[in-house]
Amino acid sequence: MFPAADKYDIELSVDESAVDSLLSVTPDDVSPPAELTFSRNVFVPLTTACRYTCTYCTYYDVPGEATLMSPDEIRSVVEQGVDAGCTEALFTFGDKPDDRYTEIHAQLADWGFDSITAYLHTACEIALSAGLLPHSNPGDLTESEFRSLKPVNSSMGVMLETTADVAAHSGNRKKTPGQRLNTIRAAGRAGVPFTTGLLVGIGEDWRDRAESLLAIRALHERYGHIQEVIIQNVVANERSSFDRPSVETMRRTVAMARVALPDEISVQVPPNLSPTRELIDCGVDDLGGVSPVTDDYINPDYGWPALDELRSIAADADLPLFERLPVYDRYLPADYRRESVARAAPPAAADGWLAGPIRTALSASNGSGERFRAVALREKEVYRR
Ligand code: SF4
Repeated sequence: MFPAADKYDIELSVDESAVDSLLSVTPDDVSPPAELTFSRNVFVPLTTACRYTCTYCTYYDVPGEATLMSPDEIRSVVEQGVDAGCTEALFTFGDKPDDRYTEIHAQLADWGFDSITAYLHTACEIALSAGLLPHSNPGDLTESEFRSLKPVNSSMGVMLETTADVAAHSGNRKKTPGQRLNTIRAAGRAGVPFTTGLLVGIGEDWRDRAESLLAIRALHERYGHIQEVIIQNVVANERSSFDRPSVETMRRTVAMARVALPDEISVQVPPNLSPTRELIDCGVDDLGGVSPVTDDYINPDYGWPALDELRSIAADADLPLFERLPVYDRYLPADYRRESVARAAPPAAADGWLAGPIRTALSASNGSGERFRAVALREKEVYRR
């Protein structure tokens, strides 16, 4: 049983022999991917407030310093993203920021919202109306919160990080493995295409990594909703002095992920944080999101440094590089699924994987709809061997 799992009635156990078997995996046991993918996104940090204080995190600001983007600021950023050819609005913020930050709560109330979840819904509507597909990472949610946000999100995510109880999550307020597993299960029950992942190097051991991967697999086997698993290494920063995991550690962890997870789940590493070139042959097939909107600088002609880096990584690995939508191919309506992924379509979600507003955006007869469909059907390869 995982820490705090009983509190959330999580009936999930991993087979010890499966853990032992996964622990014997090495990079020599996996094949390189056939291709690499990435998403073109614009980052929308709705607020820097968070009720937790994970020791490795530099994202959150303390009460009094945390900010909340206004609707006009959100509109401005997503419109820049549309102008630059993005397809994804990546909404990120800390966990239940209105819980502990009275000024955030007061600001939300002033704007007519009773929670950050209600505000996120409006923020997603702004992104959709501008011509982007929202992908939200709002921390731990309940099934009913997922259901309320599903109509305006193409996909969502939360990092499991680890199923271990680690000191990095200690303190009066802390996220727990049970709570994270509960969130991933809730997303599955709500039929939300979902991204999760491991954070490597926060105090977990090899057995914890294997158990975390097998727990993700078990939840995917129940609900079919996991689209990608991120294998991210911790990095030292001004708030912590964690050692960055070695390249060998990351290679072995990525290989374990590739073996533990079904083929339909992508394994992603973030190139800005990882020794990506040295991990591709261990089974990495996705490079995450790249954003053109940095320091108010936009280059709509693909001349983004981050995209050039991805092209270079793909060229070095001698692999084709394709753009993808935030929601993976197999969750798309059949008309927008390529033939090769149609065969790997997931089990039907109770009320469909994508809600009406997302389907409407995908089929829109405007520039955004055309861009979504061109990306989904791979009408353009970003790099060819
Ligand atoms: S929950 Fe996320 S945003 Fe909040 S402190 Fe932890 S890592 Fe940072």
